[in-house]
Amino acid sequence: MRINGKGPYDPQNVFARILRDEIPCKKVFENEWVVAFHDISPKAPVHVLIIPRQPYVSFMDFHSKASPEEIVGVMHSVGEVARQLGLEENGYRLITNAGPDSGQEVPHFHIHLLGGKALPLFPV
Ligand code: AMP
Repeated sequence: MRINGKGPYDPQNVFARILRDEIPCKKVFENEWVVAFHDISPKAPVHVLIIPRQPYVSFMDFHSKASPEEIVGVMHSVGEVARQLGLEENGYRLITNAGPDSGQEVPHFHIHLLGGKALPLFPV
């Protein structure tokens, strides 16, 4: 499916449903800005998705609409998830797919956090 990274936002997408507790997830972190949970199809020993609570289709939607306070809150939360998962010593990779050419599948902005082993060079 080709996702338009700028919307409109589909409130029935799978991550919107996770945010509403309509479908389960393996949650690892949450605060006022984000929810983070294990990817259902992990590509590394640690593969966590971090999503904002607010409805943004992709990073391009997020950076153009979110307040500076929310952008800081979300990005700080990403670092905090990685720290709490013990990834700071060996490092990790952050990826976000935005729009059709990226292969984005779920139309709710999310950041992939990958780690737990020496990752192959791009592409993951
Ligand atoms: P992207 O291609 O960047 O849109 O990535 C979407 C990611 O969401 C993929 O890595 C999927 O494995 C993951 N995913 C899809 N549905 C779920 C779900 N219900 N719970 C957790 N991860 C999911």
